[in-house]
Amino acid sequence: MSLFQVRGGVKLSYRKELSSESPIVHMPTPKRVCIPLQQHVGSPAEPVVEVGQWVGKGQLIGKSGRGISANVHASTSGIVTAIEDHVAPHPSGLTQLTVVIEADGDDRWAELPPPITADFPLPATPKELNDRVAAAGIVGLGGAAFPSAVKLDMRYKYSIDTLVINGAECEPYITCDDRLMRESASEIIDGVRIMAYALAVEQIIIAIEANKPKAVKAMRDAAKADRSIRVVTVPTRFPMGSAQHLLLAVTGRETPADKRTAEVGAVVHNVATARAVSCAIRRGEPLISRVVTVSGFGVREPANVEVPLGTSVEDLLAFCGGLHPVPTLLINGGPMMGAPLPSVHAPVVKGSSGVLALTAAEINEGPESPCIRCGKCVSACPAGLVPVEMAQLIKRGDLQGAKAIGSQDCIACGSCSYICPSHIPLAHYFSFANGKLNALDRDARRQDRIRSLIQARNERAAREAEMKKAAAAARKAAKAATAAAKAAATETTAASTTQMEETT
Ligand code: SF4
Ligand code: SF4
Repeated sequence: MSLFQVRGGVKLSYRKELSSESPIVHMPTPKRVCIPLQQHVGSPAEPVVEVGQWVGKGQLIGKSGRGISANVHASTSGIVTAIEDHVAPHPSGLTQLTVVIEADGDDRWAELPPPITADFPLPATPKELNDRVAAAGIVGLGGAAFPSAVKLDMRYKYSIDTLVINGAECEPYITCDDRLMRESASEIIDGVRIMAYALAVEQIIIAIEANKPKAVKAMRDAAKADRSIRVVTVPTRFPMGSAQHLLLAVTGRETPADKRTAEVGAVVHNVATARAVSCAIRRGEPLISRVVTVSGFGVREPANVEVPLGTSVEDLLAFCGGLHPVPTLLINGGPMMGAPLPSVHAPVVKGSSGVLALTAAEINEGPESPCIRCGKCVSACPAGLVPVEMAQLIKRGDLQGAKAIGSQDCIACGSCSYICPSHIPLAHYFSFANGKLNALDRDARRQDRIRSLIQARNERAAREAEMKKAAAAARKAAKAATAAAKAAATETTAASTTQMEETT
């Protein structure tokens, strides 16, 4: 299958060898798990358990909230000891409402939905499968954490003909998807076929970066019975794992900056998400664990670990032998698009593909110096932007100017910062500016809403006043008519009396 040209991107030193040959190990459940009610894009889940209550493994503890949201389940059995604000794996250090469970050590399952074990065609409608995926709290496990059932539902809104499965895993260090494809290829292919059935698509493309030949072989072997699935290798070039770029590379379809891939006829899911879908349908199990790559020269035993959600980063690092003396930076996710961890007490969540402990030598952050106008950031930008100009406008405080030349189309891949010989933290400027612009947009929308509410209230008051005026006028007219009728009746009576008297 021929591929299409993708613009920009950078060649990175991948450092995957630290963990790529480590088979996935299962971490025993820690004594305590802290499970945030928001581990996904959209609104937080609402707690449905109480402090003091016993919960089974896999029991629903947070019901998906309004609009886009996702269910949250207990990752082990035990007692809910608190529902409180707890540090979240977000660089802001802000807390999130979290269900704390003291494990009872039994890991006893709650009652699960009955498994659907039949072969294809499945004895369930696409809607029933979507409902199961939603009930299982599955979100995109590539890091985006977008609720998967919402993506599957897009077939009812857009004309979808292609399912792309993302096995690119283009971030340095991260090897969890590579290992999953090598060790659980059959489960992944099963999940892929379930999603293809739910989406009613016939074209399925599994795209894997060329630096994972063993994963490509395992997936091809597992998929060979299904002729609608093609497993293709894509160039090893960051950020190939971005949904838009992967779709462009394998289908030639360009997704406009402010649109979803579904709007150009394709849905993109990650390989780990496909495996989670298979577990939910075939075993009735909700999403309560994920594979995380623990790596970097700061950690003693880099590994790929299946971790119960809500396990603290501290417990996970201890499971991997602990840290070498003082790493410089702990990151949630990959080094390019991940974010610094505010604390080792932050929990592993659905979107945590990696926990990296990087030393100063690995980070290689030199002192910032003036721009030398080399243009490397422009060539590297996969979104076709001019980072150097956007950064200058933002430095001058001209956020609207930066927006006008596309700052909001930035996908925050960090390629420009990585390539810049002057060590200018370009991507930081864009995330700062876009955060501010989004806040301004939100304010403007709120003001508009308030203005339209006031206008609606004034119009309603004016209408009521008009109606009152009309009613008063009608009452007055009715009164006048009654008086006139009465007067006319009196006159008629008087005239008849006079006539009678005259006749007499
Ligand atoms: S961070 Fe944004 S501006 Fe920089 S290369 Fe990536 S998409 Fe382009
Ligand atoms: S890569 Fe850095 S030095 Fe080169 S033009 Fe861009 S901002 Fe300037």
